[in-house]
Amino acid sequence: MSSFYIETYGCQMNTAESDALEALLLGAGMKKAERPQDCDVAIINTCSVRQSAENRIWGRLGSYTPIKRQKKMTLILTGCMAQRLGEDIKKSAPQLDYVVSVNDKMKILEIARAVQKDEKPEYEHSENYDFASSYYREGEFSSFVPIMNGCNNFCSYCIVPYVRGREVSRDVESILNEVRYLDSKNVKEITLLGQNVNSYNYNGIRFPELLKKVASLCSNIQWIRFESPHPKDFSDELIEVIKTEKKVAKHIHVPMQSGSTKILKDMNRRYTAEQYLSLIDRIRKEIPEITFAVDVMVGFPGETEEDFNDTIKALDTVGYIEAYMYYWNPREGTRAVTMDGQLSEKEKQERLQKLIDFQLKKAAGIKEKRAGGIQDVLALSVSRDNSSQMLGRNEHNEMVVFDLIKPVEPGSMTQVEFLYLNGNTYVGRQV
Ligand code: SF4
Repeated sequence: MSSFYIETYGCQMNTAESDALEALLLGAGMKKAERPQDCDVAIINTCSVRQSAENRIWGRLGSYTPIKRQKKMTLILTGCMAQRLGEDIKKSAPQLDYVVSVNDKMKILEIARAVQKDEKPEYEHSENYDFASSYYREGEFSSFVPIMNGCNNFCSYCIVPYVRGREVSRDVESILNEVRYLDSKNVKEITLLGQNVNSYNYNGIRFPELLKKVASLCSNIQWIRFESPHPKDFSDELIEVIKTEKKVAKHIHVPMQSGSTKILKDMNRRYTAEQYLSLIDRIRKEIPEITFAVDVMVGFPGETEEDFNDTIKALDTVGYIEAYMYYWNPREGTRAVTMDGQLSEKEKQERLQKLIDFQLKKAAGIKEKRAGGIQDVLALSVSRDNSSQMLGRNEHNEMVVFDLIKPVEPGSMTQVEFLYLNGNTYVGRQV
């Protein structure tokens, strides 16, 4: 029985696809190897969002050369870097056997099967993206549920539309079947995934309606999250579903990228800073207990000190408890690479540091005020520092370390009194 090894880089979508591929290979009777040198088929599922992500893969590819000198092994590269660079990669990495496109990722099973029989794999390339029937990783209590692939937005800094193609929405029944399956597996938390999740549209069924259908199937599942929405596709109907469906987590991630309307225009984000902030206001008016996470990019070409300050002001206005912050990196193949007004690395790093310092202080202030009260918590694991304590997470994705009064299994729900904030984690006690 041959064995496989998968290494995964990049976004949640890549993680979900690797989990689906792993389930397929295990289902075909293959064994999972713990180290690359112990496997017959090695698969690298790559990311291409930044040049640094690809540089890392070139390094990984190099590490397989000595392994392949020692033993017979099939090395497969897939994911966005494979999609972007194609077969040409082999010229610089002759140790590679197969370069598999994003659409053909699940076809790797065919390659593995052929390799097992020492045959040449034959499979037809898919013009369209192939959703797996399940992305569930056995034994997990949180699971990703991809519902879309690709993006039609072409933000000027982003490579995703070029490597993942046009938006494709997954069949509603396939999604609902997966949710039923996950609920039967006692999963507690699911995340609906897509690069532009709220532009989902399958035969006229749009995201708010899908979210309602998913919520109606959740009994063991406590929280439904979704990643990543685009502010321009955030309808009042969606706000209404988040408000009325108890299972939809009242913590949402709304990427902003910049607080400057001028920069948002150059990014081709298709909303103004005012429109973004009024969206946040609308959501908050309807759902007062809601909390927000954000994506913010600084150092975009042409960003002035004033634009940067607009971004800081927006963070101050909204008050996010979670933020993904980074600075712009030129990405070959995107429009922003040739834009005027490029900032130096030093300027970009300084702005990012200022942004991080501001956001961490702001979030700590908000979270301190949120301490107190009893909340539902998903128990994750026994605390590393103290075996009579557990680590858990609440609906707002906030971490808490809590004293136990009775044993709790990881993956089960419990109630915790949030006493105070210690750094970025709450301290609490089970009630
Ligand atoms: S919405 Fe913009 S940033 Fe997000 S994946 Fe699409 S092009 Fe990229």
